[in-house]
Amino acid sequence: MKRDKSRIDLSSIPAKSLVEFDACTRCGECSIICPTGGEAEQVEERTPRGKIRAVRKVVRTLRNPLRAALTSEKKMERMLSDLSESVYQCSICGMCMEACPLSLRTIEMWESLRRSLVDSGLGPKEPHEALVKSIENYDNPWMQPRMQRARWAKKIKSIVDATKEKIDLLYYVGCTASYDPEINRVAQNLVSIAEKAGLRMGILGKAEKCCGSTLLRIGEYERARKLALENVDIFRRTDADRIVTACAGCYKTLAQDYPSLTGTRLPVFHTTQLLAELLSEDRLPLKKDPPGLAVTYHDPCHLGRHTQMYDWPREIISRLPGVTLVEMERNRERSRCCGAGGGLMTLNQEIVFRIAGMRIEDAERTGAQVLVTSCPFCQQTLVEAARRRDNSVKVIDITDLVIELLE
Ligand code: SF4
Ligand code: SF4
Repeated sequence: MKRDKSRIDLSSIPAKSLVEFDACTRCGECSIICPTGGEAEQVEERTPRGKIRAVRKVVRTLRNPLRAALTSEKKMERMLSDLSESVYQCSICGMCMEACPLSLRTIEMWESLRRSLVDSGLGPKEPHEALVKSIENYDNPWMQPRMQRARWAKKIKSIVDATKEKIDLLYYVGCTASYDPEINRVAQNLVSIAEKAGLRMGILGKAEKCCGSTLLRIGEYERARKLALENVDIFRRTDADRIVTACAGCYKTLAQDYPSLTGTRLPVFHTTQLLAELLSEDRLPLKKDPPGLAVTYHDPCHLGRHTQMYDWPREIISRLPGVTLVEMERNRERSRCCGAGGGLMTLNQEIVFRIAGMRIEDAERTGAQVLVTSCPFCQQTLVEAARRRDNSVKVIDITDLVIELLE
């Protein structure tokens, strides 16, 4: 079917978001700190303020019959194309929400706007199409076969099939730690840690599917909903009363998006919560006198501004022998994004690595030897950014740090 590029259906934008688009005072506080439009590139159209201005122009044209009649199809097509272009040049980091003096809920505004663009055939962007197809055909965005999903666990005897055996904990691995050979270690670490703590952990193996986070962020709401319903159905086939994930994106999606997508609230926890709990209960044997290590911590957007999980990782670090946390100037709520979220990695790698490079510079300024994070996707991006800066700082996952200090 031919797409009509001069029409947009705004019905998937909730009324409260439409009110918020209108409430913006154009003060520009968000624009200064926006990583894509303000910091990495000074392009007003890509800043949150610029995007809001573009939305308002479209809404006002559509809602005013006289203005609509005077706007040619070609002009409308251009307005919508510009809007779609700027709305996707965004990592959905939520920094604009944090900076906004009116506390406008920009994350919801951008995501619902993308959903409208998709519903109207104006989104996602062409580079996203392969990603969408991959999730549809293989249940992961990396175009990898389902059969290989649990290859990382092949030689691990303590891991069991959660759909067949009784378990204490279901580990939802997620696509990045399942398929990226450099990130597989995060999954293996978690299994070892659970074993040390005497927990019987299970995985779903090849039955596990992508959580749908990327689909949701790029506006593919219906596809994400279908996937979420399938996942909830698979989770029900286990007897797990706790689901743990080491990925910030999976955590946010399962904990925050699944209730509205599926009507089900899952007992989901992030690894940082589990590790903090195990350490506080003295269930992990730690080295007695390890050499001192200075680390800094990167708050992933999905674990930080999106779900406010700032304290757990810091509690873990504070309980590890010999480890000192040196905060980056921008930490917690004002933490700089790694740049890769919101489908931006697929769309514009140049800007992603400019943003990630700035994060590595933040870490370098602390003098810490190690940059710790708690999201495989952030880790993937920051490792590459550090490599491009001569590996000035070592980027690891928080499970790597814990494993290193276990006896
Ligand atoms: S979510 Fe982040 S990248 Fe997107 S507009 Fe806001 S500050 Fe910029
Ligand atoms: S900070 Fe808030 S009110 Fe100011 S321009 Fe940005 S979104 Fe609008």
